[in-house]
Amino acid sequence: MKIIVLKFGGTSVGTIKKIEKVAKIITSYVKKKYRVIVVSSAMSGVTNQLLIKTKQISQNFPNDEKDVILSTGEQIACALIAGKLKELGYKARSWLGWQLPIITKGNYSSSRIIKIQKTKIINYLKVGGIPIITGFQGINSEFRVTTLERGGSDTSAILCAKFFNAKKCVIYTDVKGVYTTDPNLIKSAKKINKISYEEMLEMASLGAKIMQPASIQEARLNRIEIDVRSTFSKVKGTTITKKKNIFSRNTIRGISFTKNDAKLTLIGVKDKPGVAASIFRPLYENSINVDMVVQNISANRRETDLTFTIKLEDLIKTRRLIENNKSIKFKKLIINKNVSKVSIIGVGMITTPGVTYRMFKALAKKKINIEVISTSEIKISVLINKKNLKKSVEILHQEFKLSNNL
Ligand code: ADP
Ligand code: ASP
Ligand code: MG
Repeated sequence: MKIIVLKFGGTSVGTIKKIEKVAKIITSYVKKKYRVIVVSSAMSGVTNQLLIKTKQISQNFPNDEKDVILSTGEQIACALIAGKLKELGYKARSWLGWQLPIITKGNYSSSRIIKIQKTKIINYLKVGGIPIITGFQGINSEFRVTTLERGGSDTSAILCAKFFNAKKCVIYTDVKGVYTTDPNLIKSAKKINKISYEEMLEMASLGAKIMQPASIQEARLNRIEIDVRSTFSKVKGTTITKKKNIFSRNTIRGISFTKNDAKLTLIGVKDKPGVAASIFRPLYENSINVDMVVQNISANRRETDLTFTIKLEDLIKTRRLIENNKSIKFKKLIINKNVSKVSIIGVGMITTPGVTYRMFKALAKKKINIEVISTSEIKISVLINKKNLKKSVEILHQEFKLSNNL
């Protein structure tokens, strides 16, 4: 069986008109003799509206019930797509996560898919049906509905491709592919024809919303080729594939950024072993992800300053945990909510000296102050004032000539 997985994002199924367009795309693959498995997100904005409702009941709304509510958005979108396909004369039906089932493990709201039962879908494909499967959800060992992290329909689609041995997974979205940076912020952003799993994973983890990071990790592990393209254009999109399939002369392939970070600095903490661990342990125990960390060299060898960044949404909780942490002493806690992280990404960096210098020089020329730096083999991230975000991305886009040679 020549199986293909098509995933449609929130904007692609955002209105009835758009769902009609989606149905046309699906049937075009059926006409090419593919057995099509569709995975859909909720209509755009729906998941956010549902989340608001839970918050109106309680700021501490139970996570298990939150998943039951958030998963309903996908149910609506899938039923509408199936309804439209039937109207066009095709055999189609919606499949909710529990009906396959899609089995997940882990915490509510951030579950991981560990298995997808194939039998029912394979039998349905064999009789010419088009299954429309809800993304973003599954069931756990207690038969309760679970959801993946936000944006998780990408991962549902990649794992459908894995479990059903699909030839390919096509991600249909609202832009023409993966760009050198967010095309909705930077007009000169350019579509990339092919990108490696490694670079895409970094771009996604560092803030490019186009693909959920976990989905790229799964695709890389299972060698699933992904095409990312627009629901609203015939233009060829971006292929996410193995490094060896890529021939690019560009050292830097993309720039990602975040807008929702907070920077915390603890002034005057004791400079002795175990202090950093006692600061970060309660954060870890409360599932708060610490991102960039810098500890200054202490001038007097007794006290130092420790700076780190977290997601803005975790700020209230983090502040409380630090202020109530009896095992650490510090003189002052400084919080800055006006920060953004800008990252340049490219596997070519490993073999090209001077990339860091070029990045810092380009920012310095425009008088943009760098507050924190972190690097890996294939990326450099800097923390800057949020007001300089657009300017910084533009300058770096020019400096690394990202509009050429893709
Ligand atoms: P979907 O609803 O289809 O899942 P998302 O909103 O999750 O779509 O992701 C698509 C959005 O990702 C685009 O509208 C774009 O603003 C944003 N984006 C961020 N970085 C990039 C990038 N490097 N290339 C393309 N899009 C990007
Ligand atoms: N509807 C979910 C969300 O908004 C999943 C997704 O769109 O991928 O996060
Ligand atoms: Mg998405």
